Amino acid sequence: LASLEVQPFPTVLEFPTGKTGGGHVLIAAGPCGVESREQTLKAARYVKAHGAGMLRGGAFKPRTSPYAFQGLGLEGLKILAEARRETGLPVVTEVLSPEQVELVAEYADALQIGARNAQNFALLQAVGEVKKPVLLKRGMSMTLEEFLMSAEYILSRGNMQVILVERGIRTFEKTTRFTLDVSAVPVLKSFTHLPVWVDPSHPAGKREWVIPLALAGLAAGADGLIVETHPEPEKALSDAAQQLHEHEFAELMQKAKRLLEAL
Ligand code: PEP
Ligand code: MN
Repeated sequence: LASLEVQPFPTVLEFPTGKTGGGHVLIAAGPCGVESREQTLKAARYVKAHGAGMLRGGAFKPRTSPYAFQGLGLEGLKILAEARRETGLPVVTEVLSPEQVELVAEYADALQIGARNAQNFALLQAVGEVKKPVLLKRGMSMTLEEFLMSAEYILSRGNMQVILVERGIRTFEKTTRFTLDVSAVPVLKSFTHLPVWVDPSHPAGKREWVIPLALAGLAAGADGLIVETHPEPEKALSDAAQQLHEHEFAELMQKAKRLLEAL
């Protein structure tokens, strides 16, 4: 169902703030995790002011350690909904289990499936039953064929609103957190009509490398970006090293605009 042989034209998804796919680029930005009302509203206001079309923020966080900050849960979803009311930005947030899908879909405009759940087939089927866009992250050890098969689990349940997100894979390189597979963008787009996005934050692991990776993704033809930014990144409860300061996010948005005009 994801194949260009089945649908020979790009899928275009529409949000109140813009479109993604078929030449339209949408940028989602916000903190890794929703930590407080103040932090999230601040981030929502400035990402909107700098031109983002969607707010990101995890209410349920998939952490490597069970002792690390796990997110605010339902309270986090309510904060995201308040940020949407105030800014008009649609919100995307991660769902961790099939049981959570109904609750998260009540609050969010788009559901994120994290890299660690990219082959959680029960979860993929559960979001396939929902009538909301799904941002499906590539698992860190997934081939592109496996990635497309995960998308099929969602599509085959009737939800055709799937966005594929390249977010870096495991290689022997240790300097960066993951290796951004820029080639995933043109390669996926040669097989599928679905929008393909890039997450430059998680592969970079360090904020100084986020802007070049984001621009590389756009130059390769990505239909969108999902970027982490925090009003006070040094104090972030997760992914502190890679979240952009506001001024860096503003710089990214300016450079992205110039690049897209030149393409
Ligand atoms: C995130 O977006 O904060 C996240 C956990 O991403 P990933 O699933 O790609 O690691
Ligand atoms: Mn993160």
